[in-house]
Amino acid sequence: MEPELPDLRSLPRSEVDALVVRLGEKPYRARQLFRWLHQKGAATLEEMSDLPAGFRTRLAVELRLTVLARAEERRSADGTIKWTWRTHDGKLVESVYMPEAERRTLCVSSQVGCAVGCTFCLTGTMGLARNLEPGEIVDQVHRANRRLVELGLGEGPRPLTNLVFMGMGEPLANYRSLKVALDLLLSEDGPNFSQRRVTVSTSGLVPVIRRLGEETFVKLAVSLNATTDAQRDAIMPINKRYPLAELLAACRAFPTRNGRRITFEYVLLAGVNDDLEDARRLARLLSGIPTKVNLIPYNENPGLGFRAPPPGRLSAFQDELVRHNLTVVVRRSRGSDISAACGQLASEGGPGDPRRAAPTLTAPAPAR
Ligand code: SF4
Repeated sequence: MEPELPDLRSLPRSEVDALVVRLGEKPYRARQLFRWLHQKGAATLEEMSDLPAGFRTRLAVELRLTVLARAEERRSADGTIKWTWRTHDGKLVESVYMPEAERRTLCVSSQVGCAVGCTFCLTGTMGLARNLEPGEIVDQVHRANRRLVELGLGEGPRPLTNLVFMGMGEPLANYRSLKVALDLLLSEDGPNFSQRRVTVSTSGLVPVIRRLGEETFVKLAVSLNATTDAQRDAIMPINKRYPLAELLAACRAFPTRNGRRITFEYVLLAGVNDDLEDARRLARLLSGIPTKVNLIPYNENPGLGFRAPPPGRLSAFQDELVRHNLTVVVRRSRGSDISAACGQLASEGGPGDPRRAAPTLTAPAPAR
């Protein structure tokens, strides 16, 4: 089998600069090439019309260009759009677009599947197929931007305003690709996202949380979901490796510059973590951390065995946190009619999709 060519879209800026020089082109061509790749999201080398034809030919001989193919698009009544993309080796990953007032957010995937295995999460049932390359992470953003323009839902080249790494996968378990992708997405010659508008969410990989804090200025979200180690061990196996005390110590040490806060996500699971005593413990655990709590009523997934909290429980839980002076936002479920809500992302009908065992269900289901 021929060895795979390196991906042009995955190269950090410094490597694009070096490549251009090595191929005998003038250094200013590097900026032109980089802009085609990451500002305009070019889908082919032919599109790069102001680059010499000979240069484009040499690029085509030495490298491939990641362009995710749109395998499916599902649009929700609330404006949410879920895209399923096919990679060059036939894997499926998903991104979710969530418009809200002036904010147009894309939820980005970082891995095909996920090895963390949270028991309430559909993606967790898939296991990990592979990490995404930097080019496959950033191309979700490029394809989404181009599609939004095509649909008349925004003006080019970059309708998206915010990014959240909360799609399929644990972003910090693929830190090497994530870091390159973040640098590309934040680049002035690329999409030029503001660090304040990029959030990376983790299930709690403590050593990499420290690294993210040292090496970037993006925002941190932590998927917490429990208030005791016993409870968290049962639903998030990563807690056995990095228990709550270690996780919260890493959060306390995370640089929260310019009044930025850490978001703690708390999925309310009926009878598991939705007691008022949980709310009080949560307030104690988070004291001293600049915090915002996102409360998320569970989106039920067939086959996973968890239930959404009963009516009234969510507001009682929220009130208790507010009484303890916490800032609390209830995250409205987006796109649950198209399987795009939190915890619902997985390639539908794929090997890990428990809905395959529930063929009588007719309601559309989803992925995180
Ligand atoms: S919740 Fe996140 S970390 Fe946990 S299994 Fe799902 S995708 Fe992985």
